[in-house]
Amino acid sequence: MDSSVYVFVEDLRGEGVERVLDRISGYGVTGITVGAVHHASRDVTPHGLSRLTIRHDGAHFTPPADLFAGLRLAPVPGYSGALDGLREACAKRSMKLHGWTVFLRNATLGTKHPDVTVRDCFGDRGSLTDLCPAHPDVREYAVALARAVARLGVDSVVAESLHFRPLRPERSFVPLGPMDAYLFGLCFCDYCLRRATDLGVNAEVAREECARIVGSVLDGDPPAQGEVTRAALTAYAGPDVVAYARARSETVTTLVSEVASAVAEEGSKLVFIDSTGAVKGYADGLPTPGLAAHDAWQLGVDLVALGDLVPAFGVLAYARDAARVADDVGAYLRSVGKDREVRAVLRPGHPDSDSADRLVAKARGAKAAGALAVDFYAYGLAPHPVLDRIPAALSEAV
Ligand SMILES: [Zn+2]
Repeated sequence: MDSSVYVFVEDLRGEGVERVLDRISGYGVTGITVGAVHHASRDVTPHGLSRLTIRHDGAHFTPPADLFAGLRLAPVPGYSGALDGLREACAKRSMKLHGWTVFLRNATLGTKHPDVTVRDCFGDRGSLTDLCPAHPDVREYAVALARAVARLGVDSVVAESLHFRPLRPERSFVPLGPMDAYLFGLCFCDYCLRRATDLGVNAEVAREECARIVGSVLDGDPPAQGEVTRAALTAYAGPDVVAYARARSETVTTLVSEVASAVAEEGSKLVFIDSTGAVKGYADGLPTPGLAAHDAWQLGVDLVALGDLVPAFGVLAYARDAARVADDVGAYLRSVGKDREVRAVLRPGHPDSDSADRLVAKARGAKAAGALAVDFYAYGLAPHPVLDRIPAALSEAV
């Protein structure tokens, strides 16, 4: 079974390329998915160069200058030589190399160019981390960035955050329900408003409705109860808001289509990952009831449409329960098409897997549901005894 381990450039810098690859190939894993373009974070790294690792927004290679000539947005420089020799080192071990690319989550670019970030229903740009996929400059940047990663000679470009992102405030002492948070997270920048209007949506009415509803909760009204569904949203916010939310899919689908074509032109292939599985299960491995494939529309991800445009998909199966992993993979395949490559991304340890047996059960469940590959997230975040569960998961899943 095809497989990979997610690896951060800080892992390679800390332990060295040879040592990391020897360890991973020793698990029987057939590739690595390296963080070629990543976002800022502060992570506990149990066997890293330091036990707490501070990551910065950055592209960890030197992008070809011609790709970004004349563009307003260019990659934030990271560790420029971090991937040197990696492709050759993988080839020597017959391992595949995938280029993990974070597209629209970039606080450095957003802070420098606030006008390309999302704007909420009140007209505020409160999330400079989130570049808006409707902005033309962001779209040009995304296509060029995909080409740049493809030119590293990777077997695939693995796209993260190539869609709208949910609202994630660090503090809220207002009890926002899922639906209020969703409305608060919708982008109403000029480009989003225009795209929705072009599709026949009454965008300004949608914005006013969102501002009225979220405003009333901020003023002390009780939040809406229950998860976000189209029916619940229609009842709560009305048809214009639902139409506006659905119109976001056109923005994302066309962008992903352009990126997938660019990657194919460069001789690689796109693996599209939507964050819905992480939104649901990241914190504790106990995802909310709706399957990721059924709720992806909330981030503007239309999996049925993307199934015709993208060759491969990664499913963030962040769940403790093996049956849930299988259900998520199955629902994904039904959405994108049975002939598409679906890769299940599993966390081998906390908070999803408390034993090798549980990881084995999930790999088996993913395979039985039709996944063609299992990827493990992530090398530098998991203690060595947790990574040691991977061989069993691969051998027994086959
Ligand atoms: Zn926007």
